[in-house]
Amino acid sequence: MFDTIERADLEELHFRYDRATGLRGIVAIHNTRLGPALGGCRCIPYDDDEEAIADVIRLARGMSYKAALANVPQGGGKAVILQPPGTYDRAALYRAFGRFVNDLGGRYITAVDSGSRISDMDEVRRVTPYVSGTSKDGHDPSPVTALGVYAGIRSAVAWRLGRDSLRDVHVAVQGLGNVGYALAGLLHVEGARLTVSDIDAARVERCVREMGAEAVAPEVIHEMECEVFSPCGLGGVLNDDTIPRLRCAIVAGAANNQLADDSQGERLHREGILYAPDYVINAGGLIQVSLGYHGKDHAEIRRRTMALGNALQDLFERSKVDDLPPEQIANQVAESIIYHP
Ligand code: NAD
Repeated sequence: MFDTIERADLEELHFRYDRATGLRGIVAIHNTRLGPALGGCRCIPYDDDEEAIADVIRLARGMSYKAALANVPQGGGKAVILQPPGTYDRAALYRAFGRFVNDLGGRYITAVDSGSRISDMDEVRRVTPYVSGTSKDGHDPSPVTALGVYAGIRSAVAWRLGRDSLRDVHVAVQGLGNVGYALAGLLHVEGARLTVSDIDAARVERCVREMGAEAVAPEVIHEMECEVFSPCGLGGVLNDDTIPRLRCAIVAGAANNQLADDSQGERLHREGILYAPDYVINAGGLIQVSLGYHGKDHAEIRRRTMALGNALQDLFERSKVDDLPPEQIANQVAESIIYHP
């Protein structure tokens, strides 16, 4: 285990089992040099403990990088709850998780992530102050994540296509959940042309009805001839199978871990497709939960989120000068902030 911790350069790894609720929770704290670790709580089924441990460590490290580039006063951390099989008392499970977080004394602050909801964070808040994004505090990250992705798409379109508006720019949005739907709305208001897909037909229908979007099957959304492909569903969508089929100038979306592996970023770069690194463009949610937690007002949070567009411009510029993929530049910048202050 210590080899794993050393390889990931992790500060702390905590486990909590609670017999009464069935909680099997893990918290990974990657780096706290910039502030207490902040990151969401993912609650999904895992095949085994090793898979959950690998996931939480990788995600915690990613949060350190994201916080460094978003310039928020946080370190990187993450929690996973191994989703209990069968039926369980959800509220009790999250209160047990909240006690776990509380026992860490504020070195880790939690928030929503895949499989957890704002209402779950309400339960966590009943037993600990170390949570951001409850129905009471109003720090729901998803709308702000969408705003940041919108700013990032504007920035990428300006850089790659020399256009200062999204009017008539064709964007293919994959996944119309919390972020994708809000993003589609922002793009629509600015006059972008939308093609959308989701595995949930009702979500597609809503965008068609409200925004005049064109719907396509999930299997072909990445093959659309368009200016921007915006992955807002699952990770790993940029891979050996999909990249040769892309017919876009830009990939810019909210999904975490879009590149199936590092080589895919190289490939996009070689093929002249501009890739907005996922953890930079989707940092709006972190900005919301971090600055909201520190009492900043909405105008400040919005301003800092829109500034993600400028951060991306800097990365694109350096990527061009150094002839390296933008995500490699982003990693270099993040590491210089985290490790060489
Ligand atoms: P969500 O679960 O609300 O939405 C995801 C949507 O993708 C769902 O509607 C789902 O049906 C759809 N989907 C799944 N597989 C698909 C497929 N093969 N083709 C098309 N659609 C598919 O999640 P979300 O909160 O909107 O987050 C979206 C992505 O952004 C995730 O990868 C998440 O990790 C990332 N992200 C979210 C936030 C946030 O604030 N919510 C912040 C940073 C990153």
